[in-house]
Amino acid sequence: MAQHFALSAAARQLSSDGLALLSDAEILALLKQARWGNADEMNDVVCPHCHIRHHAYFISTRKQWQCKHCQHRFSITAGTIFQGAKLPLHKILKAILFFSIPSKGISAIALSHHLNVQYKTAWVLLHKFRESLDKAKDLTQLKGEVHIDGAYTNYYIRPKNFRHKRIDRRKKRNQRPDKSCVLVFRQRAANQAVMKGADRTIVALVKEENADDILQLTQRLVKPNSRIHADENPAYDSLAFHYDLWRVNHSQEYCSIDGITNNLAESFFARLRRAITGVYHKMSNKYLLYYANEMAWREDNRRKSVKNKFEQLLHCCLNTLPSHDFVGYWQGNKKAEAVFGLANLTASNDPQHLIAA
Ligand SMILES: [Zn+2]
Repeated sequence: MAQHFALSAAARQLSSDGLALLSDAEILALLKQARWGNADEMNDVVCPHCHIRHHAYFISTRKQWQCKHCQHRFSITAGTIFQGAKLPLHKILKAILFFSIPSKGISAIALSHHLNVQYKTAWVLLHKFRESLDKAKDLTQLKGEVHIDGAYTNYYIRPKNFRHKRIDRRKKRNQRPDKSCVLVFRQRAANQAVMKGADRTIVALVKEENADDILQLTQRLVKPNSRIHADENPAYDSLAFHYDLWRVNHSQEYCSIDGITNNLAESFFARLRRAITGVYHKMSNKYLLYYANEMAWREDNRRKSVKNKFEQLLHCCLNTLPSHDFVGYWQGNKKAEAVFGLANLTASNDPQHLIAA
């Protein structure tokens, strides 16, 4: 049997030992490369204030640049998701590494021990990573074979000890008010010899699997006439008019007689469920889409090395504008309520959150 990719030497080209050996100048050069490219020319930067790329003055004692056009003085994290973060750069890099290694995410408490920082600091930092992954996600329409399915979260109600006090948990009026559903859209990789399974994953949040949201989201996310695989839920019926729809009836079989499965969606949910039960334990609806999108990123990058994921996330964070949701979180700046349906895609994936190229 072939070796699992995560066990191969290619998967671990970067370690915390390697990061610890970097000098301050090397760390700055690494970040400079990820943000503006051209690590050999420290002066070659883009001013975050007037957006002009030029050779600015580099003030080496302060590790800051001064723009020749507007005289704005800025650091490597100015105008990015890390703006105002008080953590030293080497701890931020270490956090990105620890986020890139596990396949099902890392809890804030574990990260706080790795970095020797407070739990609150680690929690906000992890959410800033998730926020930038969410802002930068690619919403280009999926094509070819696309599997769609929904998985419910926040639904569990613990039964009462005494039988006569127990309620019928199947009834709608007895369900939790915050019960919600993560919808996933996964595209089968075009070349199965290069990448087995899916290569692109998009998630969305809905209150429950309903025909309206499913049709709207599918029309936004999947090219017309693509082949769609879904389960027997009637909420998917209307897709048959716009797409080549195939069904698998899960009450009868996991794979239909024609070989139709919904396995690309199921394998995503396997990872999400394990992250909920094993790592995060609780996801409130406010941040559920961030967590689901983190798992989508982990799925799509499952065959990439830790070094590759580290570089990708670092680039992503340094090209996202400062956080709306997590700046001053512990001082009272809390995110507004969860958004459902098509609105959650447009709300999170707005290009105005990204730094103009
Ligand atoms: Zn400027």
